[in-house]
Amino acid sequence: MEQHIKITKTSHSKLADIDFDNIPLGKTFTDHMFICEYEDGVWLNPRIEPLELIPTHPAAMALHYGQAIFEGMKATVGENNTPLLFRPEENAKRLNHSAARMGMPAVPEDLFVEAVKQIVGVEKGWIPPQEGSALYLRPFMYADEPFIGMRAATSYKFIVICSPAGPFFTKKIRLYAETEYIRAADGGTGEAKAAGNYAAAILPTEKAKAKGYDQVLWLDANEHKYIQEVGTMNIFFKIDGKFITPNTSGSILKGITRDSAITLLKDKGFEVEERPITIDEVIQYSKEGKLEEAFGTGTAVAIAMVEAIGYNDEVVTLPEANPVSLDMKNTLDEIKAQKREDTHGWIVPVAVEEKVK
Ligand SMILES: *Cc1c(COP(=O)(O)O)cnc(C)c1O
Repeated sequence: MEQHIKITKTSHSKLADIDFDNIPLGKTFTDHMFICEYEDGVWLNPRIEPLELIPTHPAAMALHYGQAIFEGMKATVGENNTPLLFRPEENAKRLNHSAARMGMPAVPEDLFVEAVKQIVGVEKGWIPPQEGSALYLRPFMYADEPFIGMRAATSYKFIVICSPAGPFFTKKIRLYAETEYIRAADGGTGEAKAAGNYAAAILPTEKAKAKGYDQVLWLDANEHKYIQEVGTMNIFFKIDGKFITPNTSGSILKGITRDSAITLLKDKGFEVEERPITIDEVIQYSKEGKLEEAFGTGTAVAIAMVEAIGYNDEVVTLPEANPVSLDMKNTLDEIKAQKREDTHGWIVPVAVEEKVK
């Protein structure tokens, strides 16, 4: 189904002021946003317009009860400067999976994909040209009904904003295996990309940073021993030649990069086990010299190599060389730049209509 999205362009673009070699991370936004409202059971008035402040009622329910979810995806440029998306329909499905858990309405998948394509078409000039950099897209939905009381809201906004990002330095990360705080428990909201999950992670992450780590490695809520994931990434370990990543049992966010990495590792001939793995097991393998590599997967950085993992008084240090992780990063970057064959049909080119003025 073709969605009619009304487009109103800004008369003063900020694009000319951007230094693409020096983009402050997460602070620069493009000229426009996609926005639509949900009222009485339907999404209304989908449109792209100049990015501006949104008037908010002080009783808007998202501010009080936290019905707020988001997605993260990237647009890159491929051959002939064509803007490309990576598996956008997976983000559409996941947004709706999050929405269902949070008692929020679904966004029709075709509306989601069309919204993302059209905003990328409008903001094409904002996609940074360097390989490894991208236009980060942030689709999100929140309850804006003014109401005090506990129930699902009846009105929502679905918005997509864009922020140019990178190129990311491939700095290795240090993880702190958290034994006091938890991210997600069975039956909770860990599998939803819900704003509140991140609110709960801020304090533990700040504490981990104060100890000299970059991010928290989350352990399970019951026994504090099964590895779940990292801040905003899923985690993979290369042990004795094969890869192990925790199975997504309901309290782990189902990363699209995780899924892509499993496929690519298998393409390259590696065995990949999705199974519960404990922090003690990882430490034991490290002592036996079998822990060869570890990396996190997520849209923001694609593949983040792990340098060390702290757990209680121990620090596990990963070997300096991580050839498979590096190869995975390059493979993903090259697929996203159309420099490598997209054998799985992940790339979705965005047709840009050049309107004659
Ligand atoms: C977004 C996210 C990921 C990674 O998902 P991708 O689809 O690969 O970007 C992993 N864990 C958490 C908690 C996340 O929020």
